[in-house]
Amino acid sequence: MSKAIIQIDGNNFYASCEQMIDPSLRGKGLVILSNNDGCIISRSAEVRKSGIPMGKPYFKLKQKLNKLNIEVRSSNYELYGDISNRLMSILSEHCEKLEVYSIDEAFACITRPKDQNLNPWAKHIRALVYQNIGIPISIGIGVNKVQSKIANHIAKSIEENAGIFDMGIIQNKDQYLNLIEIEKVWGVGVKMSKWFRRRGITNARELRDMKREEIKYKFGIVGIRIQNELKGEICIPLNSNSLQRKQISVSRSFSYPISNLEELSLAISHYILIACAKLRKYNQLCSELTIFTNSSLYSRDYFRNDATSKLEIPSNNSVTILKESLLLTKKIFRPYNKLTKAGVIMKKLQSDKYQQRMLFNTKDSKSDLQLEYLDSKIDSINKKYGSNTLNWASSVIEKDWSPSRKKLSKLRTKCLENIPIVFCN
Ligand SMILES: [Mg+2]
Repeated sequence: MSKAIIQIDGNNFYASCEQMIDPSLRGKGLVILSNNDGCIISRSAEVRKSGIPMGKPYFKLKQKLNKLNIEVRSSNYELYGDISNRLMSILSEHCEKLEVYSIDEAFACITRPKDQNLNPWAKHIRALVYQNIGIPISIGIGVNKVQSKIANHIAKSIEENAGIFDMGIIQNKDQYLNLIEIEKVWGVGVKMSKWFRRRGITNARELRDMKREEIKYKFGIVGIRIQNELKGEICIPLNSNSLQRKQISVSRSFSYPISNLEELSLAISHYILIACAKLRKYNQLCSELTIFTNSSLYSRDYFRNDATSKLEIPSNNSVTILKESLLLTKKIFRPYNKLTKAGVIMKKLQSDKYQQRMLFNTKDSKSDLQLEYLDSKIDSINKKYGSNTLNWASSVIEKDWSPSRKKLSKLRTKCLENIPIVFCN
């Protein structure tokens, strides 16, 4: 029996999450803003039709949005993360293999039934997701990842498809491949698409049919894989172990510029604790740590600095990594710079199943176990009562320099006090 690759994507995901928790927003125009309420990063279906572009600064469009009666919300990543976990958990129950690709996207594998028709299955999943979490999704079906991405694009863009399209059973695929602009082919980046356009290759069909040698010469195996998948071969495997991350980064822009070491250390400590909790959540250890900070790109005396440290023993322990990060923070700090952003990047991650110890360990292993126990207790309390219930003193924020989110919705799916009260007679 043949296998199909499915691509599932949440429609206008951030906007859909906000519409799900606040029924008054349903059917209305809605835009979601990036950190510090900077740019538009998600639009409801109604706004897409009205021609408001993605990525534009909010302050430039504020008047127009007002005039069109379009609602505005700050991004609420805690909410989107929670809805994403629920979505992926439903999908994992109904697919043979699942690769979580991003917050609102997944690839999956499923065996086709005898009559090859996966439409009833896809309709069932769409209805199930909508009924359980209230989010509309689109489902693209194909023989491989590139084809399923194209199928998803067609599922979304042609209304009659009602959010589902199966490319795998289409005999003459050319008419559909002709519709997909070269920039929309999965794996073709900005640089690649410019090169293709210069060669007169403007859509997926033309890319499939162009000379293999030309692609190989310019883009090597990466380009050949995309072309072969367009021809119907399977070259890019499904990675069902996608939760094992290669790196973890946490960075934020500040709501106002900071210029002293104390505040920078607070910010870095705060990000380190978020990253360490993520490491522990995914059962991983890190052995290389980078921290960075920069001033505004538009300032006359632009400043950026970073520092990296290798950990002798890979770790996910908050205290160990915090100590290291505070040393690095002193290294990168220079007085008189107005810093607008900072972040941490944890690299060289490995599973926590095997931890390489030092041959002559001078440290007391009992104290390591105590720190591990402390981390697990803090994680479970924060999971139960909210992410900042218990924190380390070095990350306690007195002044609020965290990104401003003036139009933030409440986290109605995770905090008891935010759950609406319903009265009935
Ligand atoms: Mg999406």
